[in-house]
Amino acid sequence: LPALIQEALPLLHRLAANGYQAFFVGGCVRDAAAGRPLADVDIATSALPADVMELFPDSIPTGLQHGTVTVKTGGKLYEVTTFRTESGYADHRRPQEVEFIADLHGDLLRRDFTVNAMALDPKGTIIDPFHGLEDLRSGVIRAVGTPRSRFTEDALRMIRAIRFASVFGFSISHRTWKALRECAPLLRYIAMERVGAELDKMMKGPSPASAAAWLHASGLLSHTKEPLPPAFTAARPAALGGLALLPDADDRWAALSLALEADSKSAGQLFRRLKFSKARADALMSKLIFHEAVDAEAKEWWSNPEPDDFSMRKMWVSAALACGITAVRSWLDMTERMTRLPERPERLARLRQWTMQIPENGVASLNVDGREIAGKLQERPGPWLGALMRRLLLEVAMDHVANEREPLLDWCRQWSREKENEH
Ligand code: ATP
Ligand code: MG
Repeated sequence: LPALIQEALPLLHRLAANGYQAFFVGGCVRDAAAGRPLADVDIATSALPADVMELFPDSIPTGLQHGTVTVKTGGKLYEVTTFRTESGYADHRRPQEVEFIADLHGDLLRRDFTVNAMALDPKGTIIDPFHGLEDLRSGVIRAVGTPRSRFTEDALRMIRAIRFASVFGFSISHRTWKALRECAPLLRYIAMERVGAELDKMMKGPSPASAAAWLHASGLLSHTKEPLPPAFTAARPAALGGLALLPDADDRWAALSLALEADSKSAGQLFRRLKFSKARADALMSKLIFHEAVDAEAKEWWSNPEPDDFSMRKMWVSAALACGITAVRSWLDMTERMTRLPERPERLARLRQWTMQIPENGVASLNVDGREIAGKLQERPGPWLGALMRRLLLEVAMDHVANEREPLLDWCRQWSREKENEH
């Protein structure tokens, strides 16, 4: 048994010693059986939430209406949920009635897919009424019961089916797939945030391109509650093969936009519609704006046998100062790993070299402060000073002046003299 499950055994033994049944259920059983690392450990029990809370004084009632109590033991948190059935699904998403029941079988019956509907008892025996193990071995996502009813009850299950298929490299059983295609329009009942979370898991998985292929074939993305920008719903999965080579999920989202030739505006709309956090969407936008600013010119420079390094560097550095170093790294990573451009190690090395020269913290990186500059130039601080410091930053980033107090002040004096001469 995996360590995470071993560590939780005392909790199950405690429930058993008090006359309750208790099992590991859901994703952890599936992942343990497949030899994959476990995300978290979920426990189902015949004990009612109040019983669980009495046995474990350190527990938190995190979802009492669903029967879930979060139990803290051995420094870890576990979700312990009372066996239950669900019924009266309203709006194709949430059950109106949750009924606590005494046996495990009914609890497994409410679960979405056979591979997710297995339980493991404290002795290590698997309870597998729907042949999830067999589906796990042959790599099939199959709805528990009648696929059509299961998707009609809760339309999120359709997008989960695709998520599991793409993340595990599984197929989807014929009947489940057929029902999914028929029920696709029901996705409009599902909150965008939940759709966004599933798409994000697909993007983080080992094969975002297969997720795109599944989504494309299912038609699901044209039925979201809020419409997604057309560039993304019409995704050509073939163009996305390289995404998996990028270690960072947000770099993948950024590369997706570039691969689908979506402009940063519609990508921004995508992130808003999928309810990404503002901070995350902002970081993504910086990447995209950088990509948009440099991509065409960088390609041109890259393929030119007699490249104009000065202009390229100026453009590169200015865009980097505007968008931030993470945006630059994401472009470099994407270009290198996805071999978007012909292999030219010397060009890549040059870009990296230029990038290293760019101070990371904007004008705050300058080894001289604004007041000192104003003092030396015998001028009152004003908007001119900010502009001058940004110019100074560009000169430093271009390696035209050393980032040290004296050279910086000299440069300012020179600049001021030249300006006077102009007048
Ligand atoms: P992971 O945590 O890796 O995303 P998981 O299978 O643990 O996968 P969770 O969303 O954590 O997925 O749900 C835990 C379990 O609850 C699932 O394995 C499944 O048995 C059940 N489940 C979750 N969502 C649904 C749903 N919409 N319909 C039916 N059963 C569900
Ligand atoms: Mg889980």
